[in-house]
Amino acid sequence: MADLFSMKGRVVLLTGASRGLGRDMALTLAGAGATVLCAGRTVKELETTVRAITRKGGKAHVVPLDITDEAAVCQQVEAIVRRHRRIDVLINNAGILYRQDAVDTPTETFRKTIETDLVAQFVVAREVGRHMLKRKYGRIVNISSVMAILGRASVAGYVAAKHGVVGLTKTLAAELGPNITVNAIAPGYIRTEINVALQKNRDFSDMLERRTAASRWGKPEDLRGALLLLASDAGAYITGHTLVVDGGLTTILA
Ligand code: NAD
Repeated sequence: MADLFSMKGRVVLLTGASRGLGRDMALTLAGAGATVLCAGRTVKELETTVRAITRKGGKAHVVPLDITDEAAVCQQVEAIVRRHRRIDVLINNAGILYRQDAVDTPTETFRKTIETDLVAQFVVAREVGRHMLKRKYGRIVNISSVMAILGRASVAGYVAAKHGVVGLTKTLAAELGPNITVNAIAPGYIRTEINVALQKNRDFSDMLERRTAASRWGKPEDLRGALLLLASDAGAYITGHTLVVDGGLTTILA
């Protein structure tokens, strides 16, 4: 059965691999046999991810990339295909978040969030998707959020973008099939640098522990099973789906 989830021989492009969920995903996919192309803006941190993989005998390379720079995305996708012959899997993970009440949020801040969390995911998926269509194989996994299901004060741009990612995922699934699957993962609250302020907020943590059936914050490794399912051949008949991994946050009333 392990073969079903194997990533052996697969070339994966993973954005936002420098830290947090992206770093854990890179290690997971490399551990399952993939060559992971670790994309992001901070080369030094990406090198740390790559070193952590190679030290364990895995394969990974740094890909310097700001996903909001459309020309750079097009160039990098071309360069990767030239160098590695293909991209089998795309993990659209990079994202940002600003916390500010909607009534105080400058349009520019809202726009920047949408640009990174939605428009850039579209651009990367379009460029990689075009290539996957030619090869008649592909897996695209977009990282959305439980903020695609719930609304929440002070994160208007993020909530709007993450809802958008779910729609984008369904549309791309319709267009890129039958040989390419496109799915999303909607993580709940997972401890990373994106939510340090909330981790320090005792009231929030108490509420989260009460509201989740799992009674705890998530850890990056909680996403590994969902990631491997949707990135490997195990998920061949799953497409257009958003898989919520949230310890029960959005499914129980507590
Ligand atoms: P993080 O802030 O630790 O990591 C985000 C990564 O994205 C970093 O590597 C950052 O450098 C990269 N990034 C941001 N803008 C970029 C750009 N323009 N170009 C290239 N890279 C860029 O956060 P995380 O928790 O690891 O989040 C990863 C993804 O998971 C995000 O899309 C986030 O919205 C989503 N998510 C996280 C949680 C959580 O609780 N941690 C929950 C739901 C969804």
